[in-house]
Amino acid sequence: MEKILRNSNVRRRILVVDDEMINREILGNMLSHDYDVVYAENGQQAIDTLRKEPGAFSLMLLDLLMPVLGGQKVLEACRSDADLAGIPIIVMTQEEEAEVASIRAGADDFIKKPYNMPEVILARCERIIDLYEKKNLIDSAETDPLTGLYSNDFFFEYIRQLEQFNDTKMDAIVMDIEHFHLINEIYGRSEGDRILKKLAALITRELEDNFGFACRASADTFYIYHAQMDDYQKLVDRIVGEMGGLSLSPAHIRIRIGVNHEIDKNDTCEQWFDHAKLACNSLRRDYTGQLAYYDSKLHDRQLYHARLIQDIDSSLENGDFVVFYQPKYGIQGDRPVLRSAEALIRWRHPSLGMISPGDFIPLFEGNGLVQKLDRFVWEQAASRVAEWRRSYGITVPVSVNVSRIDIYDPDIEDRLLGILKKNSLSTADLFLEITESAYSDNASRLIEVVNDLRRDGFRIEMDDFGSGYSSLNMLTTIPIDVLKMDMQFVRYMLKDEKSLKLCELVMDISRFLNVPVVAEGVEEQAQYDKLREMGCEIIQGYYFSKPLPAEEFAALIEKEAALCSKNS
Ligand code: C2E
Ligand code: MG
Ligand code: MG
Repeated sequence: MEKILRNSNVRRRILVVDDEMINREILGNMLSHDYDVVYAENGQQAIDTLRKEPGAFSLMLLDLLMPVLGGQKVLEACRSDADLAGIPIIVMTQEEEAEVASIRAGADDFIKKPYNMPEVILARCERIIDLYEKKNLIDSAETDPLTGLYSNDFFFEYIRQLEQFNDTKMDAIVMDIEHFHLINEIYGRSEGDRILKKLAALITRELEDNFGFACRASADTFYIYHAQMDDYQKLVDRIVGEMGGLSLSPAHIRIRIGVNHEIDKNDTCEQWFDHAKLACNSLRRDYTGQLAYYDSKLHDRQLYHARLIQDIDSSLENGDFVVFYQPKYGIQGDRPVLRSAEALIRWRHPSLGMISPGDFIPLFEGNGLVQKLDRFVWEQAASRVAEWRRSYGITVPVSVNVSRIDIYDPDIEDRLLGILKKNSLSTADLFLEITESAYSDNASRLIEVVNDLRRDGFRIEMDDFGSGYSSLNMLTTIPIDVLKMDMQFVRYMLKDEKSLKLCELVMDISRFLNVPVVAEGVEEQAQYDKLREMGCEIIQGYYFSKPLPAEEFAALIEKEAALCSKNS
């Protein structure tokens, strides 16, 4: 950076190294009008001066025959030392034979003694300085300053150039670190940087033995163009093994590697890496493996996803998206009481049939389109609550899911309040479910938004609690009104002791936070009984009902209304 910032108004410094005073004086006179000149009387003094301020000199004029340390040795020392290697060197010689040896040792140019052509000497100095500064500028644009690997643009440019004459079979590899933002958040940026540098160094080491090159494509994502290997498992084991050496408990550094093993030369090189990235991303929810290959299944999935993205707007217009409602019952009284419902979206695709939200919500969360769906669901849910109130005289509040993307919508508060107003509802009629993992994405932003929404009176339910990463510590600062226990705990609570203990732990946390627990995914009587005994207040699950179309859900409300009026 320092090098980039130099401009023509800055006076450059030149180091003149010669044991004869008369030579130093002659050169000094020639140069000092345009440059700051510093002198050294022998090679050792020159090296000491350079070491004291690496990068401070724009050029060294170097005599060869000197006492203590000769010019040839200075050349060798400079070119083998990373701190000094960047300085251009012009050698001053009397004999032509010395020129060859100097070139080999890394000299950039020569000046013949005696110095009788001052303009030529000045012009040569200027040209070499200019060349080096341009080169440094290019170097700094070519490489990522943190890791020293190529920057993204140059990486692809090099591939394109290489491909014009390369006939080695190559693979595209994408490597990334899972939940890297959490490492940054928990351990600090410098620890994050240390991990990135370590991974970059390991990649560089792999490339010393194998043909290829690498770049840092984004924060924690590395692209490697690598001579084809039959099996990448060994490479993965080596890298994972070495990264494991960085003890960072309790957060494991989990590296994921996607390989595009069958590069299609008809695709662009960016596409080769898109495909490798797809393989890498496929490991997101798979904790068993760290290596995935791009294949036709992934390709089909990509096409399927592209189709879903293409169809979302027309499906919204045509009413292919519908909202189902699943009841939540309060279970601590004499009889289960219908307390509220969760709105869950369904896609009746005109040609692909019924598509589960598990297939499209994560996709639309990844590209922001989920906001459109959420707004649609919020509107639908609110109008249903109002309609049911008019029809049955009781209010059954509905929880809607708020995706992590919605949190970044600066208008979220106004949007929700506007929907309520339009339907003459209050914030007591629409609850908001936010998945626990959203809290670890950007805790401070989320806390800010949630605080605003709670101030308006909204009730916030933390969805899928136990599946994410909130530390107990974080829970005390996160504003919530309800914990929704992750469905996995309920599923296995009667099958294994650990899940049961975790259910109990969630109950303890809820008592500590003084908020009720909703247990999701309750299917069996035995689960119901156990949860009731543990003090769980609300239950949602097939035990009572699957998510239902609005008309069918209305029948549950009607039944509840009848029971209420009978009891009163
Ligand atoms: P979620 O918000 O945790 O919703 C609960 C899921 O559990 C629903 O799956 C529901 O149908 C299912 N479920 C409820 N009871 C049982 C049971 O007893 N057994 C089993 N096996 N499953 C049960 P669904 O509708 O497939 O939704 C999956 C996820 O998709 C939801 O998880 C939520 O994260 C997301 N989602 C659904 N609708 C929306 C939406 O409108 N907006 C957003 N942002 N996300 C949504
Ligand atoms: Mg939910
Ligand atoms: Mg849930």
